[in-house]
Amino acid sequence: MSKVHVIGAGLAGLSAAVRLVQAGVDVVVHEQAAHAGGRARSFHDAVLDEVIDNGNHLLLSGNRSVLNFLSLVNASDRLTGPSGARFDFFDLETSDRWSVDLTRGPVPLWVLYKDRRVRGTTMGDYVKGLKLLTAGDRSVANLFAGQGQIYRRFWEPFAVAVLNTPADQAVARLLMPVIRETLAKGAASSRPLIAKKGLSDTFADPSSTWLERHGAEIRFNDRVSMLRSNNHRIISLTTGNGDEPVGPGDGVVLAVPPWSAAELIDDTQAPQKFAPIVNIHFRVPDCGKQVMRSPLLGMVGAVSHWIFVRDDVVSVTVSAAYDLARQANEHIADTIWGEVSQALDMPGHPLPKVRIIKERRATFVATPEQLSRRPACVTSTKNLVLAGDWTDTGLPATIEGAVRSGEVASDTLLKGIS
Ligand SMILES: Cc1cc2nc3c(=O)[nH]c(=O)nc-3n(C[C@H](O)[C@H](O)[C@H](O)COP(=O)(O)OP(=O)(O)OC[C@H]3O[C@@H](n4cnc5c(N)ncnc54)[C@H](O)[C@@H]3O)c2cc1C
Repeated sequence: MSKVHVIGAGLAGLSAAVRLVQAGVDVVVHEQAAHAGGRARSFHDAVLDEVIDNGNHLLLSGNRSVLNFLSLVNASDRLTGPSGARFDFFDLETSDRWSVDLTRGPVPLWVLYKDRRVRGTTMGDYVKGLKLLTAGDRSVANLFAGQGQIYRRFWEPFAVAVLNTPADQAVARLLMPVIRETLAKGAASSRPLIAKKGLSDTFADPSSTWLERHGAEIRFNDRVSMLRSNNHRIISLTTGNGDEPVGPGDGVVLAVPPWSAAELIDDTQAPQKFAPIVNIHFRVPDCGKQVMRSPLLGMVGAVSHWIFVRDDVVSVTVSAAYDLARQANEHIADTIWGEVSQALDMPGHPLPKVRIIKERRATFVATPEQLSRRPACVTSTKNLVLAGDWTDTGLPATIEGAVRSGEVASDTLLKGIS
């Protein structure tokens, strides 16, 4: 393969591009936006006068593709998190606080200790988790609802966070690969990690710099509007600058979101239903570090799901936020700050400066129907492969899934699919 056009500079496209350049291929990245990062990016917000992320992103130390990718682009030091696999929680309804603190190694000894497991749960509750192995297409609620605190304080928040889908719709088996690669391996693979300064500083900036230093070309504001094919090969792509030939030995990685892919190729099966994530960023000098031992706090019994603290910004994530996304920003800010101030023991008034970001198509909805629409990376067009969190990675729509899809797509092209 002499040259590969990577369409889309989200994390899937960047991951594919890095791997292809490493293999000695000429790479041109076409990105419609003025920046890389896609759905995981940062920007300077004038209201808060801070660099904020479009949404808080939580990773785990078992996300091996992400860690490998960051190591390749010399950015391993741009994630941060507590030294152990400890997750702090606050239950707004009962005011209970507890930490889940995993032990080392694959034997989950932590479930034996009352003060290391979810407050109000028993060891037997975790054994019932084995139902996941035979879950079929059942939803998380169908498997676990009615089991008391283990459902309310673990399964439901875990499913909503990982799958961005309400627990009564979220297909439980998609949690399995995440559990297998992280929690089931113990503390070393389950440490929570977040971007130290911001998502772009961690992902898009170092990988774009690396790519350019290694001879790749990244064209921003370069939307690909058409792919022409002949005899099952892409022969040209159309951008705002006209048609660009794709030579007989050249390849294309299409790493755009599903709705863009559906516009570019006729016969692609792709998820069609998406769920919103709302992020509420407050500027709070000296924010709640006295209560937050770790940069994140899980919320139960609240509209807020996770509170993240970085420098002077407290950010709250609400996943599968269908109701919230429809509400007026003033109402959202009041509701969420009311919860944050209780959780972090801070004054409820005045309301700090706030910026609300509603990502309406944050990820596809993890229902059996939508999962069945995830395509493989190989297409019927010989020199075209797909990448993106929505392709059939076996993982939920996450950064790990996006980066891994880029690996698979580039390896597939390199092996020569013709
Ligand atoms: C608010 C929010 C919170 C999230 N939280 C987490 C989390 O905590 N943990 C986690 O792991 N994941 C999280 N995710 C999911 C994660 O962000 C995505 O899985 C990942 O970023 C998807 O990357 P991607 O490259 O597949 O797609 P995208 O990021 O969508 O990248 C696609 C790129 O293609 C470009 N493009 C589109 N059409 C064209 C075209 N025609 N020509 C050229 N370029 C084009 C787009 O501009 C974009 O840059 C979250 C997502 C959101 C929105």
